[in-house]
Amino acid sequence: MKLLIAGTSGLDTIETPFGRKENILGGSGIHASISASFFGPLSLLSIVGEDFPTTQVDFLEGRGIDTRGIKKASGKTFHWEGSYEYDMNHAHTKKTDLNTLLNFDSRLSPELKKAEYVFLANLDPDLQLMVIEQLEAPKFIAADTMNFWIESKRSSLHKLIKKVDFMLLNEGEARQFMETPNLPLAGRRILELGAKGAIIKKGEHGAVVFTPDAFFSAASYPQEELKDPTGAGDSFAGGFIGYLAQSGDLSPGNIRTAVIFGSVMASFNVEDFGPDRMRRLTHREIKKRFDEFKRFSHFDEEEKCWKNLNW
Ligand code: AMP
Repeated sequence: MKLLIAGTSGLDTIETPFGRKENILGGSGIHASISASFFGPLSLLSIVGEDFPTTQVDFLEGRGIDTRGIKKASGKTFHWEGSYEYDMNHAHTKKTDLNTLLNFDSRLSPELKKAEYVFLANLDPDLQLMVIEQLEAPKFIAADTMNFWIESKRSSLHKLIKKVDFMLLNEGEARQFMETPNLPLAGRRILELGAKGAIIKKGEHGAVVFTPDAFFSAASYPQEELKDPTGAGDSFAGGFIGYLAQSGDLSPGNIRTAVIFGSVMASFNVEDFGPDRMRRLTHREIKKRFDEFKRFSHFDEEEKCWKNLNW
């Protein structure tokens, strides 16, 4: 399998100003995989407990996700409980029950060791590092993290950054991790620590990309259907890596296109609770929104504007 995603499979309890849902499908690996599955096949490395519904595994399989890497362990599935206020850019974690996540088995099958494109979704950074060590010939590795791990495993995250091509963080995490309120500075520090690129996700305000020789800002989408932002970051990452793996093109221009696909997928994910919007999403809708993103970022060429100004 060309694309491997490792991350949590969870049952989430989520409260937003638009409602409350208990024990719905969630987890960083799940959200990222569902999103990436719109672009091509992939394998998911994860763990669930005995309470994880088999219907959800069937749903993932139906989306072309190879679930043989999802271990079923005794005990309960990872459970995250969070809430959002009207500013839905920030999740308030109420409870994190790691449960079977403590038994996450990072050993890769011979087939998964050959993965070329890898996304290490939000997970214990020591486990993310163990996955990287087993890869035989990776072409592109991206990783995500969150405040939970920044607070508890900072030095492991420093080791991780050195080994990934792209580090993905949301803006709050980037500020916290790089200890600066300034996002461009945070981006530069991530590169100085060893990543080849940094993507800082800004929720409804789009995403910015830092590489040693370029900066790119992906437009935000005027989203009016916002119900639950859980998994937006992972859906972004899934669209980003899913498109890269499918195209096999790591040129700077194509990485920008991948960022737009990431933004498109995140913009759909927030339209309903958990991954519910993704369950009914179509390629036609993705294509239409991709075109909208293109239009929103376009502005008329320079020559004309200087002529208008007559400077
Ligand atoms: P996000 O894309 O950042 O909104 O990710 C949301 C998902 O992350 C939820 O579905 C949670 O189950 C999962 N999650 C929450 N806390 C953690 C954690 N500490 N480690 C890994 N995954 C988590």
